[in-house]
Amino acid sequence: MNLKTVYEILLKNFGKQNWWPAETEFEVIVGAILTQQASWKNVEKAIKNLKENNFLEPQTIYSIKISQLEKLIKPSGFYRIKAKRLKNFVNFLYKKYDGDLNKLFSLEKDFLRKELLSVNGIGKETADSIILYAANKPTFVVDAYTKRIFNRLGLIKENDYEKIKNIFEYSLPEDVELYKEYHALIVELGKNICKLKPKCKECCLSKWCNYANGVNNSDKRES
Ligand code: SF4
Repeated sequence: MNLKTVYEILLKNFGKQNWWPAETEFEVIVGAILTQQASWKNVEKAIKNLKENNFLEPQTIYSIKISQLEKLIKPSGFYRIKAKRLKNFVNFLYKKYDGDLNKLFSLEKDFLRKELLSVNGIGKETADSIILYAANKPTFVVDAYTKRIFNRLGLIKENDYEKIKNIFEYSLPEDVELYKEYHALIVELGKNICKLKPKCKECCLSKWCNYANGVNNSDKRES
């Protein structure tokens, strides 16, 4: 079984996920920052607060007092650090790209990634989520679910973000929609079935999975 086949099985099983759940590019960016170490449910509450107060724009986040921002995003957890990260992003956007997301997203993909990674609080997963789901450029997003699932399947032994990302990108056609859908399907499987204690009996991949079939890999079985 290869990575493309896994995608096809997941798609057939779960159907299209149509990610990212957001109305604007800026909302994707805010969601990608707020979802760090948080459940999506709580991120949604924070985004709702921002929307209801008309603060879901680069300009308003740029000018809002940090204490007010902290209050609005509190449901997402780690709100002090996340408020700083949102501020860091918009400050970067205004300082280098006149507050214009189109200008930022017109950059060549690798340079855009480098620029995003230069912002304090934007790591690889967040940067790639922004590039894929907001800028619509083909970069594969790797998260903890990706590492866990593909290690258990026996398809990936690496733990390094860049190495895993490269394996996916070399194995799949360079296709934004496929990358978007694949990551969303991985999250769906990881969140509901391939949990820390996996529900292998309910899993559409169990027939081919090392973990489910007792084949040794580095992810120790939990009884
Ligand atoms: S069979 Fe079990 S361990 Fe393998 S991917 Fe599915 S849930 Fe995860």
